[in-house]
Amino acid sequence: MPELSPESSSELSAEHDALLQFLFQAPIGLVQSTLDGMITMANPMAAQLLMPLVPDGNLSNLFDVLQNVAPQLGSLVEAFEGASGIVCDGLRFKVGTPKQPQTISLRLIKLPDASMMVSLSDVTVEVTYEALQLASQLRQAARTDSLTALPNREVVLDRLTYLMGRIPHTDESKFAVLFVNCDRFKGINDTYGHAVGDDLLRLMAGRLNGTLRAQDVVDSGHINSLTAARLGGDEFVVLLEGICSAEDAQSVGQRLVDLLGRPYFIGKHRVYATISMGIILCSQAEGDANELLQNASIAMHEAKRLGGGRSQIFESEMKARAARRGSIEAELRVALSNNELFVVYQPLVSLADGRCVGAEALVRWLHPERGVVSPIEFIDIAEETGLINPLGEFVLNQACQQFVTWQRTLADNAPRKMSVNLSRAQLVAPDLAARVQLALSASGMNAGQLQLEVTESLAAQDGQVQLRLHELKSLGLTLALDDFGTGYSSLSSLQQLPLDVIKIDRSFVSQLESSAHHKVLVEATILVARSLGMSTVAEGIETIGQAEVLTQVKCDIGQGYLYSKPLTAVDATRWLEKHVADRSVV
Ligand code: C2E
Ligand code: CA
Ligand code: CA
Repeated sequence: MPELSPESSSELSAEHDALLQFLFQAPIGLVQSTLDGMITMANPMAAQLLMPLVPDGNLSNLFDVLQNVAPQLGSLVEAFEGASGIVCDGLRFKVGTPKQPQTISLRLIKLPDASMMVSLSDVTVEVTYEALQLASQLRQAARTDSLTALPNREVVLDRLTYLMGRIPHTDESKFAVLFVNCDRFKGINDTYGHAVGDDLLRLMAGRLNGTLRAQDVVDSGHINSLTAARLGGDEFVVLLEGICSAEDAQSVGQRLVDLLGRPYFIGKHRVYATISMGIILCSQAEGDANELLQNASIAMHEAKRLGGGRSQIFESEMKARAARRGSIEAELRVALSNNELFVVYQPLVSLADGRCVGAEALVRWLHPERGVVSPIEFIDIAEETGLINPLGEFVLNQACQQFVTWQRTLADNAPRKMSVNLSRAQLVAPDLAARVQLALSASGMNAGQLQLEVTESLAAQDGQVQLRLHELKSLGLTLALDDFGTGYSSLSSLQQLPLDVIKIDRSFVSQLESSAHHKVLVEATILVARSLGMSTVAEGIETIGQAEVLTQVKCDIGQGYLYSKPLTAVDATRWLEKHVADRSVV
């Protein structure tokens, strides 16, 4: 080593002093010790950090000082094999009082001269920050829906509770809740599998969120804040804050219904899904946030009952109706096992010659207290609850048996066809064709004598329903499209369906005499149906005038009160027996 000149040696000693000074005042604790822990040097910060650990003030041995908080330190040093290097880094221990906890991080370096250098830093702030961060992440996770990353039910309830507490309502503090449910989600899950179902929910969440941000969709002048959240399953909620009128809420709702109703592309599938939406305004709030959501959900179910793909504003009467439906559901289960259901028959006549060509089977419920209940009151409940399957099977079996009885007893006066209604829920059951075949075999009826009626709204666009219709058709029966004109499909879009008959809805027939427009529509329907090889039935004919117009535009068959109301089996038998004689009347 070269000798140092006095000049440079004094320079060095000045640097050494500065370094010592720096280490002495450094905001981290520095301790130098022998390998067995005897402290040879400690700066004031080290003393300050370690002092709480030694009530007697004895800072002579580092291992002793840290005995209670880092007892492993001695053995760590012993186990370290190298001549020098980092023995441990970031070893944390607590000092201070429970009221004022302090966390120290320790780094221990073994030096080549058989000594150790320990640095101690106060990481209390970092630890507190980390703890807070973790807590907030956990809180966030508990408030976020993991599938869609939208806020969850808890967030909605909190926000609603807050909003409902802000009384009196100024325009600014007004809000509306949109309760969203995917139509037929179960069917989509069953058809494409749960992975596609999950993807669909994610895409719906994305559209809800994206739409809410898009300026063109919401008029920001009326709304100051929007939150989309997922409640669970296929249920979402959108909170519109600062919205004043039912019209504004409805127009936002309608835009969401339209946007979410567009097809979804998932893998190789093009999935059609619509939503039903219940809307409730803050002025309609009663009870707590939970009750508000429940009422919004009642309005959503009302939208679903009207066919889905639409929104519906909550009305207080809906609650009573919902409760009534609840009791109908329970009673309907009993009705099925207690034989309270029965079937009535409405004749169908040829418009050309007045002959009875068939009958439609319509279900009735003889309620022990309420008397005869219309299917309008319970068919949709039966659908929602799955009761439609035993109910539908009951009607089908009754109708087939009655038909065969008439064949046997009435000969020429017997109707040539029996029509039975099918609902959507029945059409998705994979064993439907097998069950229909069973009813035919059990009664001894020919498939060609049975006609099944399906409504327009469910037949179009749904691959599963189309498949089922083809299966039914291959049994040899005929299929009729019920209530034509009330849905959105054009006749030509129904071409891919294996239909034989179009039933023109009563709403058209009832206006035939008063509206030239309706007459033109009915005439066009009949022409197109004929060109597609289908025959036509007009429903709900009540006047001779209507029958005349229909005959004139060459509708094939008529059904309605003009000929007969739906009749019990006994009364229908009488009507059929008499009908030949009365034929000239109609
Ligand atoms: P739909 O299939 O359109 O049945 C025709 C409805 O129109 C029947 O009502 C019938 O009573 C009524 N109607 C017939 N002619 C006239 C008329 O000239 N004037 C008026 N105002 N009404 C007339 P109903 O029996 O109350 O049935 C209502 C609906 O319930 C049916 O409509 C059908 O969709 C459903 N439905 C009835 N029975 C069954 C069933 O067994 N299964 C299924 N899935 N649905 C059924
Ligand atoms: Ca029908
Ligand atoms: Ca109908």
